[in-house]
Amino acid sequence: MTDLIRTTAAALQKRGFTVHCAETGAEAAQHVLSLVQPGMSVGAGGSMTIRELGLAEAIRDLGCDVHWHWLEEGPAAFGPAREADLYLCSANAVTAEGQLVNIDGTGNRVAAMIHGPKQVVAVAGVNKLVDGGIPTAIARIKREACPPNARRLNLPFPCGQTGKCNPAECPGGFCNVVTVQEHPTGKRPYHVVLVNEALGY
Ligand code: SF4
Repeated sequence: MTDLIRTTAAALQKRGFTVHCAETGAEAAQHVLSLVQPGMSVGAGGSMTIRELGLAEAIRDLGCDVHWHWLEEGPAAFGPAREADLYLCSANAVTAEGQLVNIDGTGNRVAAMIHGPKQVVAVAGVNKLVDGGIPTAIARIKREACPPNARRLNLPFPCGQTGKCNPAECPGGFCNVVTVQEHPTGKRPYHVVLVNEALGY
């Protein structure tokens, strides 16, 4: 466990998040599954971390309905995901001060993280942690997350082509909304799982 994970975990806890630190993705996945009860409805936001951990499939195997627009349901999953018993996601960046920072194009993920589902579970690999504040977090997202996402989806955004953000040439890109979650919202359980392994981007 790195010093940055320890510092970030303590800061998140102080802000009211329920934090679990895991050494590996497999351990993190087991922890997430321990929070899921059979029969729950589970929503998910777009997340390479969730995909890499195979959580949608594992949760379905527990007898839960999974509403994730990356599965066969497509965008019709947005509504039920927002009303789910549990919402699963990652964070694009977590500051050392314990803030969850996200950039979203459609807004479904950040909307559900802020309001709706009865509880939220955000899983963040060590690569998502930034030893700095909000500007450092946003720079990390635009440098490390947006370019590979643009390439993965074959979208003609400048960052995907050059590796650099050029908002003047990018109307309707990923960066339509930036959120900073300072504390849990809605008096509901809000779990953050920090993993000492790189996950997603
Ligand atoms: S504004 Fe456009 S170019 Fe800049 S990071 Fe976002 S998607 Fe990429």
